[in-house]
Amino acid sequence: MFRSFFLLFAIVFSLHALSNYEMLKRANGFLKSNNKSNQFRAYNDYKNLYLRALMQDDKKLLKNALYGIVKSGKKLHIDVAQYEKELHGFSKKSKYVKTYKKKKKTAPKKKIVVKASSHLKLVTWKSGKLLLKFDKALNKNSLNYFSKYDVKRKKYQYIFDIHAALRASQTLRKNGIDKIKIVQQNFKTMRLLIEDTNRLKINFTKTKTTLTITIQKRVLKKKKTKKVSHPAIAPVRLDRNKIIVIDAGHGGKDPGAIGYRRYREKVVVLSIARDLASILKNRGFKVYMTRSKDYFVKLSNRTKYANRKHADIFISIHANAVSLKNAAKAQGLETYFLSKSRSSRAKRVAAKENKADLSEMDYYGKESFLSTLNSHNIVAANKLAIDLQRGALASLNKHYKNVQDAGVREGPFWVLVGAQMPSVLVEVGFITHPVEAKRLVNTQYQKRLATGLANGVERYFLNN
Ligand SMILES: [Zn+2]
Repeated sequence: MFRSFFLLFAIVFSLHALSNYEMLKRANGFLKSNNKSNQFRAYNDYKNLYLRALMQDDKKLLKNALYGIVKSGKKLHIDVAQYEKELHGFSKKSKYVKTYKKKKKTAPKKKIVVKASSHLKLVTWKSGKLLLKFDKALNKNSLNYFSKYDVKRKKYQYIFDIHAALRASQTLRKNGIDKIKIVQQNFKTMRLLIEDTNRLKINFTKTKTTLTITIQKRVLKKKKTKKVSHPAIAPVRLDRNKIIVIDAGHGGKDPGAIGYRRYREKVVVLSIARDLASILKNRGFKVYMTRSKDYFVKLSNRTKYANRKHADIFISIHANAVSLKNAAKAQGLETYFLSKSRSSRAKRVAAKENKADLSEMDYYGKESFLSTLNSHNIVAANKLAIDLQRGALASLNKHYKNVQDAGVREGPFWVLVGAQMPSVLVEVGFITHPVEAKRLVNTQYQKRLATGLANGVERYFLNN
């Protein structure tokens, strides 16, 4: 399983992997935007870069990544104190500061250096069709067309990525279509985005220097349109042929945290896990649960089970808790992905979650723990964690006030150790908080939370 997973990953990454430089450039671009989801993207990129820097032992990249995490994190009101501290420690080592600052001062005003061979010359409408004309011939692999559904914004998106350069971004208008936009996506790709609340019918033909696109609203009664020639590029669609293992924390003799009004974690998380499983099943995924009733499952058996099922992702559901005197203060939803512990907060939460099965700490020696920290899985799990966190918050914010975003974090969770697939742990909220606990035991809230997590899963599979 591991081998095939790695192969798959290698293929996916050879298509989409950005170099450190490209990703940093993209992140810096996102950071400048005032839009919240771009800020999230920046934060995500910087976190990825941070992990890459750690793995590649690249001090300069680490510093840049930390700087970005702190800057974007603050804008998003994410607790980045730990990173800030790390960045600060860095600054004391003058060597790196100097090179970093020098660069900043002497660097000329940054502009995207476009390395594409063709340039977009003209954009026009001709008998209802959109024509993009280029100065030089587009070569065979310079066009990638795909469509997707943006769950959060409830829009169908049709995207043309073209290996070409553009003078300036532009917005086009066509009656009945919500949005048509052309932007320089990165230093070698321009992107044409067509977006609408309704499904559209998009056809296109490509000659040497011209791309012709017809955009039509879908009509229920299907009429055969004349002449449709599709280049041999398969559009990327959501592949539902995925295996998901959902792990409801604790169970049986292990109640997990006991919270407000003595609500028990094991009961709340089982209910949410079941909702999530049934929603994902209804959406066409293959779903397994490590426990579907109230019984005890050893931590190590949970990931072993996921490995045996050849799961694509592993999601462990938990609820957080604090001592009585802090009960009213701590609340919020947070998602963890496995890594060596960095923050004291992660350590505290992990200590709590790991407690149930302490004897197993021997089973995984430190060495085997580190060996499971596969770099691809860490990056993928980080992405999955971000998608789940965003999905859940978006769904809950629609119906409830003051849902707290406690952020995406790294932590040393033993339940995730040994998993051969991207694995995350969702702390759905604090069962000790008077308001949040009441929500967590409410079946409506549980369903909405599960729906949001399911949206996050779809988003993850769409992009990865
Ligand atoms: Zn737990």
